Amino acid sequence: MSTAGQSIRDIFNAETGTDITTRGWVKTRRDSKGVTFVQLNDGSCFRDLQVVVDAGTIPDDVLASVTTGACIMVHGLLVDSPAAGQPVEVKAQSITVYGDADPLTYPLQKKGHTMEFLREIAHLRPRSNTFGAVFRVRNVLSHAIHTFFQDRGFLYVHTPIITTSDCEGAGAMFGVTTLDLMNLPREPRGGIDYTKDFFGKPAYLTVSGQLEAEVFALAFSNVYTFGPTFRAENSNTPRHLAEFWMIEPEMAFCDLDGDRALAEDFLKFIINSVLDKCADDIEFFNKRIDNTVLETLEHVTKSAFEHVTYTEAVRLLEKADRSFEFPVTWGCDLQSEHERYLTEDVFKKPVIVTDYPKEIKAFYMRMNDDGRTVRAMDVLAPRIGEIIGGSQREERLDVLKERIKAQGLPEEPYSWYMDLRRYGTVPHAGFGLGLERMMMYVTGMKNIRDVTPFPRTPGSAEF
Ligand code: ATP
Ligand code: MN
Repeated sequence: MSTAGQSIRDIFNAETGTDITTRGWVKTRRDSKGVTFVQLNDGSCFRDLQVVVDAGTIPDDVLASVTTGACIMVHGLLVDSPAAGQPVEVKAQSITVYGDADPLTYPLQKKGHTMEFLREIAHLRPRSNTFGAVFRVRNVLSHAIHTFFQDRGFLYVHTPIITTSDCEGAGAMFGVTTLDLMNLPREPRGGIDYTKDFFGKPAYLTVSGQLEAEVFALAFSNVYTFGPTFRAENSNTPRHLAEFWMIEPEMAFCDLDGDRALAEDFLKFIINSVLDKCADDIEFFNKRIDNTVLETLEHVTKSAFEHVTYTEAVRLLEKADRSFEFPVTWGCDLQSEHERYLTEDVFKKPVIVTDYPKEIKAFYMRMNDDGRTVRAMDVLAPRIGEIIGGSQREERLDVLKERIKAQGLPEEPYSWYMDLRRYGTVPHAGFGLGLERMMMYVTGMKNIRDVTPFPRTPGSAEF
C-alpha cells in the first residue's frame, strides 16, 4: 500500500479544484435523493471531511459498505461546499473500502454515549469526537512540554522505572518480582528471601523520578524527566490513576522562588501551545464538556498566579464562610475540598501554596529557619486541586540526615543521595506535574480515566 494521500487536516488547507485522495473512518452516512453524504475522519483534526457521492458514480455494492465505522479511501475533486457547516467538500470519483463495519453491531453509534460506556470500548473510543480531541490535545501538550524545557537548555533524562529504593515518600508502591508466589523462598525466620529474587532485593515500580533527577541536576544543572509513574494507592477518585505520566524538572542553583516562577511560566507556555495548536478541539470542549474552559485558560495565561504560604492558607480556610468535611487546623494536610476552596472561591485562579509543616511533607524538602516548615510548594488549580507538587531540596548534609532519622527512615538506602550533599552540594529545586491532571485542566474532562488512553485504576487494567 502506498502512503500517497493527504490527511484531512491538509485537505482543509488545500486549493479547491484539485484532485485529492484521502483515507479515514466513516463517522456517519446520510442518504438523500440522488446523493449520499459521508462524514470522514482520520484523526488529523477535529472536523470531518464531507464526501459527496452522486448517484451512479460509485458501484452499489461498494457504496453499501460505506457505513459508520468502515475504513475507506476516497478519490475525488475538492470543491467549495455549497452548504453551511463546512468550507469544502469532496466530490467522490472512486471509493475503496479497506474494512467494512456491521452497522448493527458497531458499538460507536452517532448517539451520545456515556463516558462510562465509552471507557468499556476504549479500543474504539479514540474514533469519537470527544476522544479524538482529548488525544490530540494530549499529544500537543506532550510536545509543548519538551519544547519548553529544550528551548531553555534543560537536559532530558530517563530515570528508571524499576527502583529498589522503597521509601521515596510519595505513596504506595507496586512490587516487581519474578519469585514464584505459590512457592516463596523463605529466610530462616520466615520472611521472604529476596536475595533469591531477580534483583537480589525487593524492587518496585517508581513513584517519582525525582531522586534520580537530582543526581543529574547536580551534573547538568537543569534537567527534566517525563515518563510513567506508578502508585498503588487504593483511592478510587476521579483524579487518581495507578499509572500516570509525570514531568519533573530539577534545577541546580535554584531556590523555591525560582521553582515557583518556573512552574508558572511552564504552565502558561503549555496552555498557550494548546490554545494555539488545538483551537478546534478546545472549542469543542468549551461547547460540549465545560463552557468555562476557554475563558479559564485564557485568563490563566494572562494573569499572575496567586502565592500564599500554608500558614496564610490555613487562616483563609479558618475564616471561610462555609464548613468543610475535614476541619482545618495548622498542621493538617490540605484536603481536596480545601484546595478547591482556595483556588475556586478565594482567588479564582491558580494558587501556589508554599512552606508547609514539615510533618506532612517528604524528608528531602528544605527546612526553613523556623524549624517547623519546609520549602514545599503545591500549585492548585480550579476544578482539579493539586496539579503540581514541588520543593526546594535539603542541600545540607547534617539537616538531611536529621530529617531521614526523624521520619524513621533507614540511612543506608540513601547513601548515594547523601553523597550529593557530601560532594559539591548546592541549593536546588524542582517539581512534579501530573500530565493527566493537566489534561483535565485544559480539556475540562471530569474524570482522569477519560484523558488517558488506557487507564489503570484499582480493579481495572483492561486492554
Ligand atoms: P494528591 O494529594 O493529589 O494525591 P500527591 O501529593 O500524592 O497528590 P505528588 O506526590 O506531589 O502528589 O505528585 C506530583 C504530581 O503528580 C501531583 O501534583 C499530581 O499532578 C500528580 N499525581 C500524583 N498522584 C497521582 C495519581 N495517582 N494519578 C494521577 N496524577 C497524580
Ligand atoms: Mn497522592
